[in-house]
Amino acid sequence: MSTATKPSRYDVTRAELGQILADEPRFRVDQLWNGLYQQLADPSGLTSLPKSLRSTLETELPPALTTVVERISDGGDTVKYLFELAGGSRIETVLMVYPDRVTACVSSQAGCAMGCGFCATGQAGFTRHLTTGEIVEQVIRAARKARDLDRRLANVVFMGMGEPLANEANVWAAIERIHDDIGLGARHLTVSTVGLVPGIKRLTEWPMQVNLAVSLHAANDDLRNVLVPINRRYPLDALMSACADYLRAKGRRLSFEWALIDGVNDRDIDARELAGLCRALPLAAHVNIIPLNPTPGYLTRGTSLTRVHEFRDRLIGLGVNATVRRNRGTDIDAACGQLAAGQPVQPVSLGRRRDTSD
Ligand code: SAH
Ligand code: SF4
Repeated sequence: MSTATKPSRYDVTRAELGQILADEPRFRVDQLWNGLYQQLADPSGLTSLPKSLRSTLETELPPALTTVVERISDGGDTVKYLFELAGGSRIETVLMVYPDRVTACVSSQAGCAMGCGFCATGQAGFTRHLTTGEIVEQVIRAARKARDLDRRLANVVFMGMGEPLANEANVWAAIERIHDDIGLGARHLTVSTVGLVPGIKRLTEWPMQVNLAVSLHAANDDLRNVLVPINRRYPLDALMSACADYLRAKGRRLSFEWALIDGVNDRDIDARELAGLCRALPLAAHVNIIPLNPTPGYLTRGTSLTRVHEFRDRLIGLGVNATVRRNRGTDIDAACGQLAAGQPVQPVSLGRRRDTSD
């Protein structure tokens, strides 16, 4: 059997491990499972197992990720990985070390089919869904690196490549492993979506209390249809109603992501429209303002830092919780999908809207 057809070490279930280890004493399954998830170890590093078994498992349960690039920036506080998967697709994972917390940003798909023009992953198009094991192994790799830095990984955000709610089954299964087996708290796990309403509804019904972030970027349908094409299928009315239901059911904080694009969604009217949407919700939402990272396929610039802070202050003045999220690792292409994006694509530019209210 070739390596490519074998399930990876973080794809196999405990029951499947039981079958693989059928000829071994029963406690070997627990030893191996704990080794993989608690000790963050490869089978070859599990000295509690007999040597021959270690090497058999190392080949029978191959890793899913091969490191192509590991880049460090922010004085060692941001580590960005480019991994190759079976079949040759490349994905990225970012570890961000803050004084009070350590966060991993993971990918859920190789590429993305949602086609947001400002996003490097969207520009590259969709290749395939990641398996559960490919998602979990990103977390393991990040957790190992954090441990090497004498820190503990505590948070996982699904804000790397891909749309997690377009790959729900594998993402939910991965979240269960991250929670149950690696031991991260549900409140420390965040799913970021472009606004797939059926997925948000299922997340609302799901018992686990993970955080939800919705990438809004525009607060009226005309502009959002252009920035986030999936808005044509799930327009703002439907999206906001799903967000309101989520808030009522979960009582959890909801975040909106807003990538500020110069002259496109950074005007006074944009702040007022966004504040209007936030005010209509049953519980306060939090707006994360992200200065747009430059990407090869999108000519429109990000908003200047002065204007970014003015926009935040305007939102706060309108009664909205808003913070600016610092771009981590811009010098190592940590903007969504940039390290993994393949060939440069034809740049597109958006027509700027004049703010008639100013
Ligand atoms: N598909 C999901 C999660 C991955 S994208 C989603 O869209 O929410 C994670 C975040 O990065 C989203 O908020 C997305 O809009 C944002 N993003 C994408 N490209 C960006 C860029 N060039 N600059 C700043 N933020 C970007
Ligand atoms: Fe996909 Fe999110 Fe990028 Fe849009 S912003 S193309 S949904 S990864």
